[in-house]
Amino acid sequence: MKVGYVALIGRPNAGKSTLLNKILGEKVAIISDKPQTTRTSILGIKTTEKGQIIFLDNPGIHKPLHGLNKRMMNFVFSSLQTSDLICLLIDTTLRFGHGDQFVLDTLKDIKAPVILLINKVDIIKKDKILPLIEKYNELFNFKEIIPISALKGTNVDILEEKIYENLPEAEKMYPDDEVSIQSQKFLLSEIIREKVLHHVRQELPFVTATFIDEIEDRPKDKDGRAVKYILARIFVEKDNQRKIIIGRHGSLIKTIGTEARKEIEHILDAKVYLDLQVRVKDRWRDSPNVLDLIENQ
Ligand code: GDP
Ligand code: MG
Repeated sequence: MKVGYVALIGRPNAGKSTLLNKILGEKVAIISDKPQTTRTSILGIKTTEKGQIIFLDNPGIHKPLHGLNKRMMNFVFSSLQTSDLICLLIDTTLRFGHGDQFVLDTLKDIKAPVILLINKVDIIKKDKILPLIEKYNELFNFKEIIPISALKGTNVDILEEKIYENLPEAEKMYPDDEVSIQSQKFLLSEIIREKVLHHVRQELPFVTATFIDEIEDRPKDKDGRAVKYILARIFVEKDNQRKIIIGRHGSLIKTIGTEARKEIEHILDAKVYLDLQVRVKDRWRDSPNVLDLIENQ
């Protein structure tokens, strides 16, 4: 059996979480077009007859300014250190810049082989890809370079093959049917945050945290369907941010609640009453207590 850890890394928005979900065929990480959507290392397991690939989806590599961001970057560095193989994703639609150089610099002392994934090839002209490959080849000694579309699944099969080629022989670490190890509470809180991210702009994505307070079984409905009550909190840092998330006459929080409830009902296969409370928690991004609470739900 080929078994090992594979770190997905790259700048914010490169498509790391999209790729993870595509490979697993299941949503374990939330996606958005805002930077810094992924805040911790998210583990996703793919088991096939060849072996087991344990992916670590990571926050995007950036220069940290807050306690939260320092933690995010620590997740990146520790997953670089513990992985057998690294997949670096880049967004083909963007030009090479300081941020990309910063990412390559973080890889300098890493011993594991690195595969470069040139992502989003579904939205770029083919003749743009080759110069990019040449550029990256000059800058770093990649084990492989593969153009992919995480969204469409293009070349994801080839990627899987190349990953197996670079993993050590070992025993499986997780049961065959295990896809992730994050708690259900964590996933549900992330889904709520994803819906918030879709509707807010500017600083709001960065200052929003979500937390599931309780999940309570209620008596089955008259059709015999399971019913659950979920109390969730949305943290922001200032009262004007709270007002934005609530919206005029509560219109935005209602939309967010409806979208999140539908997806949660699907996951839990139950009718769900979702109670969302928006709370102001000044500077929570620098509060170890709040950060611990969110990380460990
Ligand atoms: P992450 O920050 O690296 O985890 O990036 P996400 O997976 O959250 O994706 C960021 C944005 O890029 C989202 O809007 C995705 O839909 C989009 N995206 C990711 N992969 C692709 C791709 O292969 N093609 C296109 N067109 N968009 C993509
Ligand atoms: Mg992500």
